[in-house]
Amino acid sequence: MVLEEVKLENLEKGHILAFGECYKKMIHPSSFEILTPLKEISESLRKKLILICLTASLEETENFEDLKKCLADEIWFILNPELKDFKDDLWARVLAEIVKNSRPYGFFFPATIIGTSLAPRLAGILKLGLCAHVNSLELKDNQIIMARPTYGENVIAKLISKSVPVMATISLGTFPINYKNKEPLIKKVIFPETFSWESKLKIKRFFPTKKKITKLSAAKVIVAGGRGLKNKENFQKLFELAKLLNAEVGATRPVCYEGWAEEERMIGVSGVTVRPKVYIGFGISGALQHTVGMENSEFIIAVNTDKEAPLVKIANVAFITDASILLDILIEKLKTMK
Ligand SMILES: Cc1cc2nc3c(=O)[nH]c(=O)nc-3n(C[C@H](O)[C@H](O)[C@H](O)COP(=O)(O)OP(=O)(O)OC[C@H]3O[C@@H](n4cnc5c(N)ncnc54)[C@H](O)[C@@H]3O)c2cc1C
Repeated sequence: MVLEEVKLENLEKGHILAFGECYKKMIHPSSFEILTPLKEISESLRKKLILICLTASLEETENFEDLKKCLADEIWFILNPELKDFKDDLWARVLAEIVKNSRPYGFFFPATIIGTSLAPRLAGILKLGLCAHVNSLELKDNQIIMARPTYGENVIAKLISKSVPVMATISLGTFPINYKNKEPLIKKVIFPETFSWESKLKIKRFFPTKKKITKLSAAKVIVAGGRGLKNKENFQKLFELAKLLNAEVGATRPVCYEGWAEEERMIGVSGVTVRPKVYIGFGISGALQHTVGMENSEFIIAVNTDKEAPLVKIANVAFITDASILLDILIEKLKTMK
C-alpha cells in the first residue's frame, strides 16, 4: 500500500487527535470507540478528527479493514521497526513530537493498559493536564467538558482542561463503535533523521496473559450478580442462565473481591463499562460506582428484595423477590423451552 507521505514539520495544525492503538498485529477496538464522541465534537468545532497509529509495519495489521471504515477523517501512521514492541518512553517521545508539530486542540486515548501508560507520560513531557477515565464528553460554548466519577467515585465531576491540547483517557466500553462509508485519508508521517528511535527499555521476552478475557463490553445480554445472591454457589447459577440466554456474566465489586467471580467480570467504575441490549441484575443494589458502568444498557431488569434499591429505581422492569429462587425458576423454564 502506497501512502501519502508528510514530513513531521509539515503536519496540519489545530485538529483533534485520537490514539489508535496498534499492538501485536491488532488495532484495539477501543480506539474506534473513542472516535464516536470525538467525531461529533470535531464536527461541531469544524476540526478534523485524526487517528494516530504507531506500528512497525502496516502489512502486519490483521484488522486493517476496520481502519478504512472508521470515523476518523485522517489516519497518520508513524512506522518504524523500533515500534514493534510497546516501549512507553519511546512511544511517548514520538507522540510528543507529533503534538509539538501539529499543535492539536485535543488528544484522547482509550483507557487501555497502553493508553493509560502513554497519556500521563505524554502529558508529563509536555507539562499538560490530563483527565483520566472520562465517561462522558460534551461541547459547551466551544469547550470540551469531560465527566468522570470522583470522591470515592460517589459523585460525577465535570472537568474543563486549563491546558491545550485538552487531554484525556476515555473509559473502555463507554461508547459504541460506529463506522462510516467514506475511507479516511491515510498518511505516513516522516520523522527527521536526527530523531532517535532508541528506548531505555529492552524487551527480552513477551508472556501473553493466560487469563481468558471475557467479552463483557461487547455482550448483547448480560446477567449480573451482586451480594444479594448470598454465596458463590448461587452466583454459579448465573453461568447456567447465561448459557441458556447466550449471555455473558457480570458482577459487582464486592462479589469479585469475595472470589465468586473473576475481576474481569466487574462492571462499574473500577471495572468494565457495558451497554448491552438487556442487562439483568440479580441481588445488586445499584450503587453509583456500579451503575456508571451499565446505565446505558437498553433494557434494565432488576431482581431485588428491596423495592427501594437504586437499581430498581432505574430499571425498566423490576422483580421484587429472592434472586436465587427466581434464577432457579428461570433456568428450569428455559430448559423446557430448548
Ligand atoms: C472507589 C470505589 C470504587 C468502586 N467501584 C465499583 C465498581 O466498579 N463496581 C461495583 O460494582 N462496585 C464498585 N464499588 C462498590 C460499590 O460502592 C458498592 O458497594 C457495590 O456496587 C455494591 O455491590 P452489591 O450491589 O453486590 O452489594 P450490596 O450493595 O450489598 O447490595 C446487595 C443488594 O442485594 C439485595 N438483596 C439482599 N438479599 C437479596 C435476595 N435474597 N434476593 C435479591 N436481592 C437481595 C439487597 O436489597 C441489596 O440491594 C466501588 C466502591 C468504591 C468506594
